[in-house]
Amino acid sequence: MSVISESLSLHKMVKKHYLSLASGAQCQVTYVWIDEAKENLLCKTRTLNNEPAGIRDIPEWGAVWNDGGSIEVKLVPVRMFRDPFTLDPNKLVLCEVFDSKHVPKGSNQRSQCVKVMEEVKQFQPWFGMEQEYTLFGLDEKPFGWPPQGVPFRRVSCAVGINKVYGRDISICHYRACLYAGVKIGGTNAEALASQWEFQVGPCEGIEMGDHLWMARYILHRVCEDFWVVASLDAKPIKDRINTSGCHTNFSTKEMRSEGGLQYMEEAIRRLSKRHSQHLRVYDPHGGADNMRRLTSNRSTSSFHDFSTDTARRNVSVRIPDHVSREGCGYFEDRRPAANCDPYNVTRALVETCLLGATGEDDDEERETTAS
Ligand code: ADP
Ligand code: MN
Ligand code: MN
Ligand code: MN
Repeated sequence: MSVISESLSLHKMVKKHYLSLASGAQCQVTYVWIDEAKENLLCKTRTLNNEPAGIRDIPEWGAVWNDGGSIEVKLVPVRMFRDPFTLDPNKLVLCEVFDSKHVPKGSNQRSQCVKVMEEVKQFQPWFGMEQEYTLFGLDEKPFGWPPQGVPFRRVSCAVGINKVYGRDISICHYRACLYAGVKIGGTNAEALASQWEFQVGPCEGIEMGDHLWMARYILHRVCEDFWVVASLDAKPIKDRINTSGCHTNFSTKEMRSEGGLQYMEEAIRRLSKRHSQHLRVYDPHGGADNMRRLTSNRSTSSFHDFSTDTARRNVSVRIPDHVSREGCGYFEDRRPAANCDPYNVTRALVETCLLGATGEDDDEERETTAS
């Protein structure tokens, strides 16, 4: 064991003592917000004199915005979770960012999403997102890989120390999310060694984006403890075919009820007409990340053409086999990249499927490549 890792494990033991110290009625609240690049999270912590009973008890706060100049912005708390790192009564609070005139700052896609979700409330839209990520060491190499690399492709859900690296991180993240109150639904190992997935949902409306962003925050914090880095890059390793997505499962009250299949088919028909609009918002770089990812190789679909099928997975949108057998449930949009903004993805889905957003693809009507 190196000197660094020895002293690191000592630090963790010492930290336990300090965390056991009573803090009286006071409460530590960690404000979490999305940064200028729309991909990373920022946080800072303050003391409140009493434990907040709800989001309204948590005051707004200021922060510095680093896009060019250093502008003062407002952090407005929107959803509160329990803090799994310093434990009760401490809180994590997700915030929206506004400028001094209360205009949402660049990365704040939530405000728009809230408005649209309000318009479609009567449909009771549910989402479930499958967040894939890849672990890297501080040496920027895939975490745990032997120096010569992993010679062959692994399967997802693999078991065995020669096949999966970093299961502890997945386990700790899962438990931390449960403690926090994040609606995490499950986890599995992914196809690339040291690549993992967790699912969040089902969540209704704006809840989806809130819970996924907080699950990502918790992931990055858990990774700090293990001295690894979680990458949400859509194609994490250049010379490997494997990619990371954030499949988004979607349903409405009607789709979940008897005869729901016809509502799903209509929604998918609408999606087929707006393929390029959706790809523009399914990663933070206007489609550039998905251009690298959606190559029709392996379980990915084509960046250029919309496709759909039941049970087959290399399509844009899939109706799961069990859903088509039962005739109701939900469908899966497999196009969002791992680093997508869930507010943009869920908003685009309801705009196209429920609000009948128009504006067809620029090119003449696209062929559906699978039936
Ligand atoms: P896959 O077979 O594609 O790997 P997963 O089991 O990883 O599927 O993920 C399924 C996702 O579907 C979960 O996030 C879950 O929350 C979500 N889900 C389940 N039921 C519904 C529903 N009725 N509406 C929307 N999402 C749902
Ligand atoms: Mn999955
Ligand atoms: Mn997966
Ligand atoms: Mn999936």
